[in-house]
Amino acid sequence: MNAPPTTLRDLEALCERALVPRERLGELAAVAARYAVAITPAIADLIERGDAQDPIARQFVPDAAELVARAGDRGDPIGDDAFSPVEGVVHRYPDRVLLKVVNACAVYCRFCFRRETVGPGRGGLSRAALDAALDYIGARPQIWEVILTGGDPLVLSARRLEAVVTRLAAIAHVKVIRVHTRVPVAAPERITAALVRALRAPDKASFVVLHANHPRELGKAARAACARVIDAGIPMLSQSVLLRGVNDDAATLGALMRALVECRIKPYYLHHADLAPGTAHLRTSIAEGQALMRTLHGRYSGLCQPAYVLDIPDGYGKSPIGPNYLSDDGASVEDFNGRRHRYPPPR
Ligand code: SF4
Repeated sequence: MNAPPTTLRDLEALCERALVPRERLGELAAVAARYAVAITPAIADLIERGDAQDPIARQFVPDAAELVARAGDRGDPIGDDAFSPVEGVVHRYPDRVLLKVVNACAVYCRFCFRRETVGPGRGGLSRAALDAALDYIGARPQIWEVILTGGDPLVLSARRLEAVVTRLAAIAHVKVIRVHTRVPVAAPERITAALVRALRAPDKASFVVLHANHPRELGKAARAACARVIDAGIPMLSQSVLLRGVNDDAATLGALMRALVECRIKPYYLHHADLAPGTAHLRTSIAEGQALMRTLHGRYSGLCQPAYVLDIPDGYGKSPIGPNYLSDDGASVEDFNGRRHRYPPPR
C-alpha cells in the first residue's frame, strides 16, 4: 500500500516530486537554508510540473532570485516589532491587536512579509507569553477586535485553538475574533468539524479571512473546506497579495475575485506586496496595481472589489492606494469607462 502524500519540506523532496530540476538543487540550497520551505500535498497537486513560471509554483517553489537584495527591502517590512508591547501582540491601531499565536505555517510563501520570523520549529507563544498577551488585551478596554495570525493559527490543534479562543471570548470588551489563514487552501483536510467548532465563541463574532492569490487555489477540496466554515455561521473574507506572474493580469485577478464570491467569501484586501527581502521579482509597481483595480471596477460585480492597500513600511499602518476616481479639486468624477463627469452636474 502506498503511504499517503506528505508535506514536502526540503529540496530533495521537491526534486523527487519533479517540482525543481535536479540541476538547480545547488543554486537553491542557499535559498532553502535561509527561508523555510513547505509545500503541502494539496498545493503540490496544483503545480504544473516542469513550468517554473506556473503561478502556483511561483508562490511556493524556492527561486534563486530570493537571495537578491534590493535597497529598501527590510526584514520587518510592516514594522511589527515597533508596535509590539508584549511578545506575540502587535498593537498598531487603537481598537484592535494582532495576536501571533504560532510562527509556523502549513506552507511557506516565497513572498511572505514575515519570512524572517516564520518557519518550522519556531514554535508558538509559550504558556507564560500567552498569559502576558491575554493580560495585555484584558487590561485595555479599547481593544474591540483580536486578529489571530502568525504564522497560521489554523495549524494549531483544535484543542489548542479552542483554548485561545475561549480565553479571548472571556474578555468582555473583545467583541470580534478574526483568524487569518491559508489553511483552507493549503491543507483543506485540516478544516474538521472540531476545528470549526473551536473557532466559534458564544456571544462573539468570529470571522475567517482566507489568503488566496490565484483562482486555481479554490479547487473542490478548498471550496468544501470554506463551506464547512461558512455553514457553521462564520463569515469569510479574503486577502490576496498582488504578485508578478501570479495574478497581475486582469483576467486572473477578476477570476480570483469571482471564485471567492462564488464560495461566499467577500474579497476584502488586495495587498500591494511588501518590501520583504528577496521578493522584488514578485512585486509589481503601484501604478500597475491601480490599473488592474480600474479593470475590476465596473466590469466585475461590486462584490468582487477588494480594497487595494499598502502597508506603509516601518509600521505606519495600512492605507488604501486607489485608484482615485474623484478629481483633485473634487469637481469631477471618472466613470468605469474613463469618462469624466462634473459633480454636481451643470444645470
Ligand atoms: S501563510 Fe502567511 S505567514 Fe505563512 S508563509 Fe504564507 S504569507 Fe507568510
